[in-house]
Amino acid sequence: MTEYSQGSVADAYDILVDGEWVSADSGERFAVYDPSTGEELTQVARGRETDIEHAIEAAVAAEDGWRRMAVDERSQLLYEIAQALRDHEDELAEIETLDTGKPLGTGRSHAQTCARYFEYYAGIADKVYGDSIPLSDEYVDFTVREPLGVTAQVIPWNGPLSVFGRSVAPALATGNVCIVKPAEQAPLSPLVAARVIDDHLPDGVLNVVPGFGTEAGAPLVEHDAVDGIGFTGSVPTGKAIATAAAENLTPHYLELGGKSPNVVFPDADLDNAVENAVKGFTAVTGQVCSAGSRLLLHEDIHDEFLDRLVDEVDSLTVDSGIDDPDVGPLVSEEQFEKVQRYVEVGRKEAGEPVVGGSALDRPGYFFEPTIFDGVDNDMRIAQEEIFGPVLSVITFADEQEAIEIANDVDYGLVAGIFTENVQRALRFSKEVAAGQIYINEWFAGGIETPFGGYKDSGYGREKGLEAIDEYTQVKNVCANIGTDWP
Ligand code: NAD
Repeated sequence: MTEYSQGSVADAYDILVDGEWVSADSGERFAVYDPSTGEELTQVARGRETDIEHAIEAAVAAEDGWRRMAVDERSQLLYEIAQALRDHEDELAEIETLDTGKPLGTGRSHAQTCARYFEYYAGIADKVYGDSIPLSDEYVDFTVREPLGVTAQVIPWNGPLSVFGRSVAPALATGNVCIVKPAEQAPLSPLVAARVIDDHLPDGVLNVVPGFGTEAGAPLVEHDAVDGIGFTGSVPTGKAIATAAAENLTPHYLELGGKSPNVVFPDADLDNAVENAVKGFTAVTGQVCSAGSRLLLHEDIHDEFLDRLVDEVDSLTVDSGIDDPDVGPLVSEEQFEKVQRYVEVGRKEAGEPVVGGSALDRPGYFFEPTIFDGVDNDMRIAQEEIFGPVLSVITFADEQEAIEIANDVDYGLVAGIFTENVQRALRFSKEVAAGQIYINEWFAGGIETPFGGYKDSGYGREKGLEAIDEYTQVKNVCANIGTDWP
């Protein structure tokens, strides 16, 4: 691999297999672009099936040693990794920002989160307990949690560093070996993170093969030597992965998209609700699975709230991620065009946006934060994940209607409520079908709390102790010790 130095992007990035940085077997590379300029940032090895084969061979060879390693030793290595990631925070933040376009402050917080995942799961490596189950006097019964073995982590482009940490750290902590497939649009930060940490791991325990979905992702998830798959990405790819996993009966979890309702009642702290509504649809330029992309406003506060929201959005800075604006560019030309198409759909469905609605007249993939008012929940801009800084505002009359609208969508990732009424907030948390309920703060929760979807937002849980279930299998041991004791 070409050496990098702090604050710079290498000329090229290679594949990590068996502790070595190597070119793709074919020698091919693909270009990665800077979303702030649209210009080429660097070149990355284009992994394909043979590269995946090599990674799987390395992982299979490393599996037994890693699984049998004493838990205190494995835990210690993960703590060292967390520290190494912290030591490289500036570099990781910068590369995440350059590759994805997100503001540098957000890139920094994702770098910190990545380190924190390793720290958190380092502390769990030696606490993956089984149970002792009482039967009759004749038996002793207990369970053990064992690793799956060779696991695949398929990563999206919007949060490469945090998804790398949240999937790889629990996999390693529980004794699995990993093959990571970063997204082709933004593969750099997982590669740099791997570079930072691979010296702390035995060869073959962590392998990273960049490449395209059909060329590297598909052969990975279809391989019968893969014992577990963690996927974060879109619904269509999630279905393809579930189908591939079904062929080999490979355990897997899917973290997919969302169209999450953010519901504001008149009794809310409106300053707080405005601030969170803005954050909810503009963070990472709206390219977040848990974005609050449907804003449900009670009719009594609709006009005042919308005025305040528009004022806030008008004051946001939209600029290159590296200059740490409020909002950066979209990640790619493809995403930029997709958002533009959806804004045109929104114009036809709901009329002219109350703010935004245009691309910025400059190079790069910049689009103004955009709000459509008067949206009906049946419209496409209320039902489909746009994955851009576009907010659909829907009005409701009472709590019952708010809950109905909140649930009337195929997704079920997040639902948020802003109210000072505790009973209402807790009723909402019971009635709305979503894996996460945010009360009075958008993006509430942390790496310690389970995260995952209801309905089309996927299944399985990452983060927290729940991730341990995804990366282990339970073995029950039952001994007949007889009744005729000496
Ligand atoms: P995507 O599904 O296009 O790609 C995700 C990854 O899958 C990439 O690495 C890609 O190369 C790979 N891939 C594509 N086709 C594949 C195949 N056939 N087999 C194996 N791998 C394949 O998603 P994206 O555009 O990178 O990410 C955006 C989506 O991710 C959004 O829908 C967003 O909501 C979702 N997302 C969800 C979460 C969550 O936790 N629920 C978090 C972040 C993003």
